[in-house]
Amino acid sequence: MSVTAPATACLVCDSALEILADWEVGEIVACDSCGQEHEVVEKSDATVRVELAPEVEEDWGE
Ligand SMILES: [Zn+2]
Repeated sequence: MSVTAPATACLVCDSALEILADWEVGEIVACDSCGQEHEVVEKSDATVRVELAPEVEEDWGE
């Protein structure tokens, strides 16, 4: 039995994003083409919706 997750696309460059069937809301997926990270915000058997993940500022120290 094979499980195929619904397809979704990069919000920046429109390349296909690979969403694994067992992923849950909150997973982060990076685009293979442009590197943009997306957060899975909605997931059901038929639908996956992603939004741009917030950029993480790693240089808060002074
Ligand atoms: Zn992309």
